[in-house]
Amino acid sequence: MLTKRLVSHYRAKDTQMILFDSHCHLDDKTYDGDLDEVIGRAKKENVLGLMIVGIDLPASLKAVKIARAHDHIITSVGIHPHDAAHCSREALDTLSGLAKENPSVKAWGETGLDYNRMFSPAKDQEACFEAQLDMAGSLDLPLIFHERDSRGRFTRF
Ligand SMILES: [Zn+2]
Repeated sequence: MLTKRLVSHYRAKDTQMILFDSHCHLDDKTYDGDLDEVIGRAKKENVLGLMIVGIDLPASLKAVKIARAHDHIITSVGIHPHDAAHCSREALDTLSGLAKENPSVKAWGETGLDYNRMFSPAKDQEACFEAQLDMAGSLDLPLIFHERDSRGRFTRF
């Protein structure tokens, strides 16, 4: 749907570059006061599609809610490695349900490993990463990765 709209727009105005923001966090509380203005300004500058990337359960829920109100916005759901310490089976099942029930969810993530800042212990990051790889696989969703300084561990997964 979104792709079709972008393509037809591109054909109609082929002298003008159209943009797709593949990774934004418009769910962040920074935007609570002027979210519609920000989305409106982006649209005016020809950002005709946006992907809000989930970083935890509350962010993913909020991203899906925003996408419901804007048909040019799609989302991913997932748990960032920084939040892996709070990665539970229940949270993952809720995210999976969100993905199944909402056509705006087009990917899983962001997930991966971050051994630079170590906001969550490595063992939690790896368990959470592996569980999310399985989940995305069973839902047939593409993945959005975050990797920093995992010294080869990331590619082992
Ligand atoms: Zn991000």
